[in-house]
Amino acid sequence: MVQKSLQFVSVEKAMPVKRQAAERTRDFREIFGEFERARAEAQAGRCSQCGIPFCQIHCPLHNNIPDWLQLTAQGRIEEAYEVASATNNMPEVCGRICPQDRLCEGNCVIEKGFDSVTIGSVEKYITETAFRSGWVKPPKPPRELASSVGIIGAGPAGLAAAEQLRRRGHRIEVYDRYDRVGGLLVYGIPNFKLEKTVVARRHEILAAGDIRFHLNTEIGRDIGLADLRERHDALLVATGVYKARDMSCPGIGLGNIVAALDYLTASNRKGLGDAVPAFDSGALDAEGKHVVVVGGGDTAMDCVRTAVRQGAKSVRCLYRRDRKNMPGSQREVQHAEEEGVEFVWLSAPVAFLGDAAVRAVRAHRMHLGVADSTGRQVPQPLEGSHFELPCDLAITALGFDPEDVPALFGAPELAVTRWGTLAIDFRTMMTSLEGVFAAGDIVRGASLVVWGIRDGRDAAEQMHLYLKGKAALSEEQAEAAE
Ligand SMILES: Cc1cc2nc3c(=O)[nH]c(=O)nc-3n(C[C@H](O)[C@H](O)[C@H](O)COP(=O)(O)OP(=O)(O)OC[C@H]3O[C@@H](n4cnc5c(N)ncnc54)[C@H](O)[C@@H]3O)c2cc1C
Ligand code: SF4
Repeated sequence: MVQKSLQFVSVEKAMPVKRQAAERTRDFREIFGEFERARAEAQAGRCSQCGIPFCQIHCPLHNNIPDWLQLTAQGRIEEAYEVASATNNMPEVCGRICPQDRLCEGNCVIEKGFDSVTIGSVEKYITETAFRSGWVKPPKPPRELASSVGIIGAGPAGLAAAEQLRRRGHRIEVYDRYDRVGGLLVYGIPNFKLEKTVVARRHEILAAGDIRFHLNTEIGRDIGLADLRERHDALLVATGVYKARDMSCPGIGLGNIVAALDYLTASNRKGLGDAVPAFDSGALDAEGKHVVVVGGGDTAMDCVRTAVRQGAKSVRCLYRRDRKNMPGSQREVQHAEEEGVEFVWLSAPVAFLGDAAVRAVRAHRMHLGVADSTGRQVPQPLEGSHFELPCDLAITALGFDPEDVPALFGAPELAVTRWGTLAIDFRTMMTSLEGVFAAGDIVRGASLVVWGIRDGRDAAEQMHLYLKGKAALSEEQAEAAE
């Protein structure tokens, strides 16, 4: 077989076609197209097949990237898909929305002077080809087992665990309080990063593999944790983190100051064709408004770019650190700037001004002082640096904390960490309750889809071992009783 690698010296880095800002801000569709076959092969062939693949090391799933790049370069796409999907339950999602600049691509060693291999786009190409070609199959176990597993939360962590455990033969039931499967993939992340049909397609594949979904079912309200423990041999809690971090400053109670996830959920639901009275009334619609988003993470980036698409008069993002020190992906900032968002770096709000509803934000400039114990420079206000920005919709995007899961589940004995995340034994991924495991953001704190998938897979492995042990024990007990 011809070795088609090391082409980076002659083939330049290329991304799939990115729609021009003026065109893409008129709708909510994804901004990137897909590689055609020849381009995917050429781009995959830029990989240097280096001895120590740092891309793989820095991918949380340790995807075997050099192998699937080489297979793609050789035109062996079905085999590339087999390799890519062996370690990742949603390569079509990760290829689209992983912050590759911080993970695999950011650690590609040809980066120095040659620009990294476009790993995410090739991953997306491989998986989309697999879906079109019918290579993506529902999980079908070699044999059915008697054990039953309940999974609370149909986000990336819960879905990855569900698929892995189903492949082993366990009977799987997934419970979610939302009416659709996908968690934040559906109600947090906007279409221009990830279209909802991509998530719905995964749901169909899993359902076709006999994974049962109970939607509109909130654990703690509709069913208690104790009842679920009775019903299943093991449980996984993968409920994510949803408590928006508050701001406290004068005027925060004024009208038209909204939390980021409420705003994004309304927009996503509208896109899905749901009735959204708070959007229709204008409360969660940025059209014709001066919008100020406070925060510098991925959620803030999604809010500013959503506001642009809704037809806001102006969109500004206030962030207390500078560009280099923001938590969001640099690529997202670039997309937002192209779309007309103004970033007001090193600035923080001190008050929201207005009578009933907000009409302006008063902010002050910051500078970065000495680093604290986490190693990050602490932003400090500059005396006398106040300024005002017009604002008739303010969106706060300061991150998320866990809800009080033990209280919500009516299970005070469920141990939490000092951050409110679920405490687990990191070797077994079991919580303080026997047979109850946990994974994803509810353990890690607000993180990334790829980490959710990784945690879901790890938890599935541990749960399988636990269930095997339990089954062996009951067999022994049955034999002893004979
Ligand atoms: C706006 C936004 C943009 C983001 N952008 C990116 C990005 O570009 N790239 C990236 O990698 N990551 C991104 N993330 C982070 C990513 O979405 C999360 O890290 C990931 O979804 C976590 O997966 P999870 O399965 O742990 O939780 P979730 O996706 O939150 O899923 C948890 C599920 O549990 C359900 N649930 C909660 N409580 C209950 C209950 N009591 N009973 C029943 N069901 C319950 C919820 O309804 C939900 O469906 C973004 C996050 C946000 C908020
Ligand atoms: S899963 Fe994410 S980090 Fe891993 S190879 Fe794919 S895009 Fe890169």
